[in-house]
Amino acid sequence: MSRKMTRAEVCADCSAPVSDPGWASINRGVLVCDECCSVHRSLGRHISLVKHLRHSQWPTSLIQMVQTLVSNGANSIWEHSLLDPAQIQSGKRKANPHDKVHPTKAEFIKAKYQMLSFVHRMPCREDDNIMATDLSRQLHSSVRTGNLETSLRLLSLGAQANYFNPDKGNTPLHVAAKAGQTLQAELLVVYGADPGAVDALGQTPVECARQAGHTDLADRLVECQYELTDRLTFYLCGRKPDHKSGQHFVIPQMADSSLDLSEFAKAAKKKLEALSNHLFEELAMDVYDEVDRRETDAVWLTTQNHSKLVTDRTAVPFLPVNPEYSSTRNQGRQKLARFNAREFATLIIDILSDAKRRQQGTAPGDSMDDDDVHDYDIVPSEDEDVTPGNSAVKSRAKEYMEVKSALASSEAKVQRLLKVNSDLGDELRRLRQEVDKLHRENSTLREQLGSGSSPYPGPHGGGGGGGGGGGGGGGPSASRKEPVYQASGLDSSLDGDYSSYREVGLGVRCVEGEESEGDPSHALPSGQDVIRKTEQITKNIQELLRSAQECKHESFVPCSSKIHIAVSEMAALFPKKPRSETLRASLRLMTGSALRLQSECMKTIPADAGDAVDLQLITQQVIQCAYDIAKAARQLVTFTTNAANA
Ligand code: ZN
Repeated sequence: MSRKMTRAEVCADCSAPVSDPGWASINRGVLVCDECCSVHRSLGRHISLVKHLRHSQWPTSLIQMVQTLVSNGANSIWEHSLLDPAQIQSGKRKANPHDKVHPTKAEFIKAKYQMLSFVHRMPCREDDNIMATDLSRQLHSSVRTGNLETSLRLLSLGAQANYFNPDKGNTPLHVAAKAGQTLQAELLVVYGADPGAVDALGQTPVECARQAGHTDLADRLVECQYELTDRLTFYLCGRKPDHKSGQHFVIPQMADSSLDLSEFAKAAKKKLEALSNHLFEELAMDVYDEVDRRETDAVWLTTQNHSKLVTDRTAVPFLPVNPEYSSTRNQGRQKLARFNAREFATLIIDILSDAKRRQQGTAPGDSMDDDDVHDYDIVPSEDEDVTPGNSAVKSRAKEYMEVKSALASSEAKVQRLLKVNSDLGDELRRLRQEVDKLHRENSTLREQLGSGSSPYPGPHGGGGGGGGGGGGGGGPSASRKEPVYQASGLDSSLDGDYSSYREVGLGVRCVEGEESEGDPSHALPSGQDVIRKTEQITKNIQELLRSAQECKHESFVPCSSKIHIAVSEMAALFPKKPRSETLRASLRLMTGSALRLQSECMKTIPADAGDAVDLQLITQQVIQCAYDIAKAARQLVTFTTNAANA
């Protein structure tokens, strides 16, 4: 299967001559030298999928795909802005062969593939969703042609390989399959396109290719569907199932499989069977990545004649962190490196058996036909003696399974969070900015107010002691109103009149402008009091925001109650019937929003168990209310301090 590139090539990253064939990055469509390859590997497969041109396994059409991209200059996609003369003058340049791997080459490679620093950016970044759809539509039509690098460019900009075109009723892979565009199909699959996806007529790309007479492509797409399990099987026994004859699994067996009958072994297998399909797929993908790491490591060691290259800096001792995964999953992935050959083989065999069971829809524990089971002797690894029993294997596998299961709920939460976040991100950002601004202004104001004669003790000190009349900062103006309430404890600052008002609980009533007797005065509260209450409000809003971001909807009601109390206390600082329309409007906005917030939050608790709750809609409303409260509080602070300085 090994191919030589047809002409002399240079490393896409540092321009060193690529030695008798070196390495390819499949998803980037470039060839790289040994040194740069070590950096690619350290970044992980989510950044670069490397394969050795001679020593790795290559399906024919896959290497043709890479060759085509290389010869058509796919590298310029990743170095677009470096080709601009203005950029060259700015001092940005690519690495050269004599640069040090660390840090020079490594930093360039990270900027190029991880940060995508040199990729051509679309001028319009306003609506990412619209743009992604547009790019995906372009991809949908581009894969009908042979123009491979156009597709790669679109994918690099965010086109979705699995985009379902609602007008055409199919995905790009259906289009490529019908058109017999084998290399386009390879590229799409590398970018995650699903050969089993169905179009509007219920057909898969495999069926589309077969109907159009592209038999080889159809067969290749079937192989792609089984890529994961085939790779695991091949890793253990150097064989692959014969998909053309309908055999889709080959399950190797330990030659001394009697060891596997231990209770530990059974328990581990049961745990595997109990995993949800989603978690099982994740585990299988992690094991696949580990197989790839081990195989590539083996190739790396056999191809490196210079011992200087095989150092700690170039080795990849365990799977690199993928920031899109939770830290628990990343830890689980890294633990796989600790499995010795035999342990790892046991895990793979269990995964293969269970993958087959899941695909065939058999219940857990059913005995399988033995057609696909093949004895397989595992070459003992060096550390085999350290853990002679099989129990260690199983307990380690078990440990890994437990980590996996524990992940189930948190992963689901993360998914939900991502969804909500994508919709609410803007609003959250807006609100956060508002709240932060409020905070900054508050502390500035506090400094201004505290800089006068009164020994104001600071944000949280003082209780009733340090209030000092609140007016010490004395501007020359005699018209300044004396504050009525001191900066004392939350409750003691409210006299009877206001306590009863607070029992009614509705600041709205006060600010709606009802006539009420006994209004002490039209005096405004001190700036310090207003700031203190505002801080209380923003603190509670921040807590609510955190709950929204973490999808802790159960915290909405308690948070909204706290906000409502703080808002009522803030409103109580002000005269019941303020003269200023501006002030009345701000108070109305604040208290009205607090009420609305509370009733929105109550909606997270369904009246009947069967009622559906649209948490996303509620969250949107909640954020809007919180935003209005923060805005109103800010207006009140501004109003009070302006009045004080007037
Ligand atoms: Zn290089």
